[in-house]
Amino acid sequence: MSNRSAILIIFTGGTIGMIKKVNNYVPINFKELVKYFPELDKLNYYLEIIGFNPPIDSAEMNPKIWIKIVEIIEKNYTKFDGFVILHGTDTMAYTASAISFMLQNLNKPIVFTGSQLPIGVHRTDAKENLITSIEIAGSRSFGKANVPEVCIYFENQLMRGNRTHKSSSNEFNAFSSNNYPILARAGIDINYNQNVISNGALKTLKIHKKIKNSVGLLKLFPGISKENVYCFLRNDFFDAIILQTYGCGNTMQENWFIDELKSFNEKGKILINASQCETGNIVQGRYQTSQVFIDLEVISSYDMTLESVVTKTMLLLGDSTNKKLFKEKFHQSFCGELTKIDK
Ligand code: ASP
Repeated sequence: MSNRSAILIIFTGGTIGMIKKVNNYVPINFKELVKYFPELDKLNYYLEIIGFNPPIDSAEMNPKIWIKIVEIIEKNYTKFDGFVILHGTDTMAYTASAISFMLQNLNKPIVFTGSQLPIGVHRTDAKENLITSIEIAGSRSFGKANVPEVCIYFENQLMRGNRTHKSSSNEFNAFSSNNYPILARAGIDINYNQNVISNGALKTLKIHKKIKNSVGLLKLFPGISKENVYCFLRNDFFDAIILQTYGCGNTMQENWFIDELKSFNEKGKILINASQCETGNIVQGRYQTSQVFIDLEVISSYDMTLESVVTKTMLLLGDSTNKKLFKEKFHQSFCGELTKIDK
């Protein structure tokens, strides 16, 4: 191989590789997809493509497929300088978060991208997103990757994957990174903000594949019924429940609800406090309406995205359901997903 960067493109599916059939968008295979990108041949990169067969709408994504993606990366890690993953936008933030936790000690770029309009449509955003993602995945200075982390590139912005959220279903600018700065912006040049980009690890890549999905997500709303809450807190299947609370982590104080939290807690199970807000962080105890969480030693998710909280919980439960161990690890920042702020 020459000193051109070598990039592996993994095509999982999503709008970027769909066409309209009768009334719906349906996936096409990667051989058909490549025909829409004649530019790929002209780029100064060594490119290989692995396509899922069949490609999927990312609404079908699940932990087994995360493992499949991680295994493809593991197998090809030494051969390539960077990886571009074409993925549907709907669950891209979940997959990018999960993969960031599954690949520890990363020192190569893994760039997720996709598009809001399919490749065959005149106004598609697919071409710019794919070509710039390849450029970012292949970008090196003095032989070292400029962005050795799992990220999402979309509509001119490069974001840390585990800090992203799909915030628009129709704008080209579909993703936000509310609690962490943008890693790079693409205009005429691609301007990297090296101060906020990881340095890459010196240790060897370590893969985590143990995932347990015994996590429940209970979103509070005014007037929520006991029946709704019981479905989660009285269900023995769950090892951990993420409470999606108000603002900086507040909840109603009704006795029946607090009693349910207490008995779930007494079973040695894990309660996590995550906010319904997209920006800001959890501060338990700021208001009297979150003091109960301190009293019950509920685990704060600080400023993590919900996508990171869910996927990190699944990965940690895969290792252990012990509450103390879980809490210790949950509060470590594995790859920049978390800033611990108590005030
Ligand atoms: N439903 C599609 C998907 O997530 C949407 C997209 O790709 O934008 O696969």
